[in-house]
Amino acid sequence: MEFETRAIHEGQEPDPATGAIITPIYQTSTYVQDAVGEHKGYDYSRVANPTRTALQEALASLEGADHGIAFSSGLGATTTLMHLVDPGQRVVLIADVYGGVYRMTSQVYEPKGYLFDYVPADEFPNLRDHLDDNTRMVWIESPSNPLLNVVDIRAAAEAAHDAGAIVVVDNTFATPYLQQPLSLGADVVVHSTTKYLGGHSDTVGGFAATNDPTIAERLYFLQKSLGAVPGPFDCWLVLRGIKTLAVRMRQHCENAMAVALWLERHGNVERVLYPGLPSHPSHTIAAHQMRDFGGMVSFLAESEQHAIDLVARTKLFQLAESLGGVESLIEVPAKMTHASTASAPFAAPRNLVRLSVGIEAVQDLIADLEHALAPAAVRSSSS
Ligand SMILES: *Cc1c(COP(=O)(O)O)cnc(C)c1O
Repeated sequence: MEFETRAIHEGQEPDPATGAIITPIYQTSTYVQDAVGEHKGYDYSRVANPTRTALQEALASLEGADHGIAFSSGLGATTTLMHLVDPGQRVVLIADVYGGVYRMTSQVYEPKGYLFDYVPADEFPNLRDHLDDNTRMVWIESPSNPLLNVVDIRAAAEAAHDAGAIVVVDNTFATPYLQQPLSLGADVVVHSTTKYLGGHSDTVGGFAATNDPTIAERLYFLQKSLGAVPGPFDCWLVLRGIKTLAVRMRQHCENAMAVALWLERHGNVERVLYPGLPSHPSHTIAAHQMRDFGGMVSFLAESEQHAIDLVARTKLFQLAESLGGVESLIEVPAKMTHASTASAPFAAPRNLVRLSVGIEAVQDLIADLEHALAPAAVRSSSS
């Protein structure tokens, strides 16, 4: 079955007890056993919960995976995956990784003796030079947050596998609608379901999927043993979100492309970063690897102060962290989502503005940006 159909039906049979068409929220911590150890596959909700099972099956299907494991947040998934690595072993990460992941690697795991190398996206064609016998994992975000760099996942996976490392791809920005990293050779795909999969800015969650039975078994074990599990209501919200993922993503992509083209023509913008623009350094690989270019657009304002001023002036683009909801958001990564990378050599540029382009009417979004970007004199005469 096609993606759109699986998003609505996979793992989501009508409730056998009542016929309810929507998977119930099994808001229960425990399950009655007929005799000691005799149960219907559920004994305690940290270990398994039927609403979570439905979500895991649906999302695994969308990623083309045999196994899906849901977590309490994207970082809950990340910290669990870091337990596939031991202290003293090396992890290579794309340099402009999500700020919260960098905070975790640099301030939580590095002090415990884990080794991390941060490789810039444009160095990924030479990834082999950055791997050694001790490299256990390569962590890719593509497109990356917030610079929207795209790396060739298939080439990176070949290099990593030759060096004996596994490849994890954070697919939060693309979603499985635009790209399925496991089909490109990745071993594990990871998500913040808080973003496009939930899609409505009303829940926090995470997810990982794999086709490797050994990794899957370890991740199910770590899910119940480390305990970063999502509640049933949060699983239900993501299940509801993914039913419309395909139509939402089509509109996000269409709107983002229109906004990016408009920004690129605008005089008060230094540079627009959107993989759909031929001017973007990753455009060729993005066009080859992804179905479309996604809903995130970043741009360099004229100065840090210009960035800070303009994000306070938009009205439809609300000033907030996070992304991937139906409503448009705007932020300054260096001050907000990526503040923890400030001292890193690859810190987000201080004049960078990141847009999560929503699915409102695009002419309203462009009018909002036009007003916010206009010089003060023009704004006061038109308002
Ligand atoms: C938000 C985000 C995360 C972290 O997810 P949470 O659900 O906030 O814990 C990880 N990776 C990327 C790319 C993100 O955008």
